[in-house]
Amino acid sequence: MSKKLHPETLTATALGWIDRETDAMAFPLRPSTSFLRDPKNLDRAGRMFTRDDNPTFEQPEALINRLEGGAGCLIFASGMAAITSVFQRLTPGDHVILPKLVYSGLREWMNTHGLRWGLQVTYVDECTTGCVGDALRKGKTKVVWLETPSNPTWTITDIAEVSSVVRDAGALIAIDNTVPTPILTQPIKLGADIVLHSCSKYLNGHGDLIGGAVVVAEGRENVLKDIQNIRNEYGGVLGSFEAWLLLRGMRTLAVRVKTASTSALKIAEFLDSCEMVQQVLYPGLRRHNGHVVAAKQMRGGFGGMLSFRVEGGEYAAKLLASKVNIFRQAISFGSTESVIEHRAGLEKGDSSTPRDMLRVSVGLENSDDLISDLRQAINQVEYEIKKDSGNV
Ligand SMILES: *Cc1c(COP(=O)(O)O)cnc(C)c1O
Repeated sequence: MSKKLHPETLTATALGWIDRETDAMAFPLRPSTSFLRDPKNLDRAGRMFTRDDNPTFEQPEALINRLEGGAGCLIFASGMAAITSVFQRLTPGDHVILPKLVYSGLREWMNTHGLRWGLQVTYVDECTTGCVGDALRKGKTKVVWLETPSNPTWTITDIAEVSSVVRDAGALIAIDNTVPTPILTQPIKLGADIVLHSCSKYLNGHGDLIGGAVVVAEGRENVLKDIQNIRNEYGGVLGSFEAWLLLRGMRTLAVRVKTASTSALKIAEFLDSCEMVQQVLYPGLRRHNGHVVAAKQMRGGFGGMLSFRVEGGEYAAKLLASKVNIFRQAISFGSTESVIEHRAGLEKGDSSTPRDMLRVSVGLENSDDLISDLRQAINQVEYEIKKDSGNV
């Protein structure tokens, strides 16, 4: 396909691949474990065993790679399997830098398995060139990790600025792009070496599979080779059916992400006008301190994720989450339906997630319906709190 095509076209056509055998336009599912040898005991079709050679992986990997502008992509059994492969290729004593507010599963892995493995970890308060620059140890730091917008408070990092500092120190910069997706942000174009995904969220987009992906920038093919060995030898391999389902989900990625972004901005503006809401954390709002950078490095929207802090603390926040009807009180995000969640109540260990905060994943419902749902929930909470304090 032509080099200039837009993400809407790439996703809708899934790169336009046709099954050579049957001319089928939909991706064939090939669950075979093993591939026939020729009489000389060589792989006839260049494939041996599906742990490494599953043909069903190729189209979703090619599509993710193309959307990210990478030099190669590998899909994994989960986001965590993909993420940890980046650290499993390191050696005891290597140093890595992570933000304090990072995907909690990664923080937990690092604090147990990563440390036991002998990695040295520095958590930085902010992903600024100042903080990251101070934490970098020349020759020792191998990976700097970041997310932007960063879960669950949606802080923004200037990828281009931080990447240049990290590269100068000889480290790799790895970006978890699960939240914005390549529809809104392409970290490799901004200087990233490695891009990670939990495909369980927006890429699949229908809340019915778990998967992950690693993409590397041109010049980092050696890193991908290591990661491919790790995938094969540790065995965090996606199932054929999940690979098939993932590609089907990605055909609508661009429209889903744009619709969610448009609705999220409307919802953020509504919440910002509510007395009960102390603060709305959404990079699409002008008053968000990452808005200018987000507007520069995100195209076509600010994503479907936002959080808000509720007057009345943890009690009021949890009460509000129990009063919604259309939103579902559940974990995860990036699916067709909207969810709301009290994160601090779930995270383990030294989480610094505010206790009065709710996280929202905006789905594909009508945005007026979603706003009405939040409005009625907020009204109920206001009423109950007034009643409890004897003011009604
Ligand atoms: C969910 C998530 C992960 C982990 O992915 P799984 O597919 O659940 O293993 C990693 N990073 C981010 C930002 C996530 O939201």
